[in-house]
Amino acid sequence: MKDCIFCKIIKGEIPCHKIYEDDNFLAFLDIQPIAKGHTLIIPKKHYNTFEETPSDLLEKIMPVIQKIGIALKKSLAADGFNIGLNNGQAAGQLILHTHFHVIPRFNDDGLHTWPSVKCTEEEFKQITESIKAKIK
Ligand code: 5GP
Ligand code: ZN
Repeated sequence: MKDCIFCKIIKGEIPCHKIYEDDNFLAFLDIQPIAKGHTLIIPKKHYNTFEETPSDLLEKIMPVIQKIGIALKKSLAADGFNIGLNNGQAAGQLILHTHFHVIPRFNDDGLHTWPSVKCTEEEFKQITESIKAKIK
């Protein structure tokens, strides 16, 4: 994709701090890390969103994400890590090229978890049924 920053990184037209590469995927440090070691893992083939990414590629990317998470944890002496993906603008996706975030976490890093919303039992039931009906 011509104007995609991540495609340019894959082609070497924009530099990155590469930490891993194989035939299908590239992993490099995020330029604005939430924590030191914050890594992005992307398919080399361009897909705008997670939704549009073929499931066979997603099957292959999971072990890579796991490998990188473990390496981040060991190299940074982290206590854990978050795996994240923003799907769509509303979810905070800024770069329209599918990418997973792996963010090292420390017991005392002060990064707070997301807030929760109130949900009645009726809503839980109704939402469960409506989601189930849409699973293909
Ligand atoms: P999104 O919000 O789309 O899930 O995340 C995009 C991420 O890409 C952001 O965390 C941002 O810091 C990172 N990013 C944007 N441009 C570049 C770049 O040119 N190089 C690198 N390494 N990361 C980038
Ligand atoms: Zn791209």
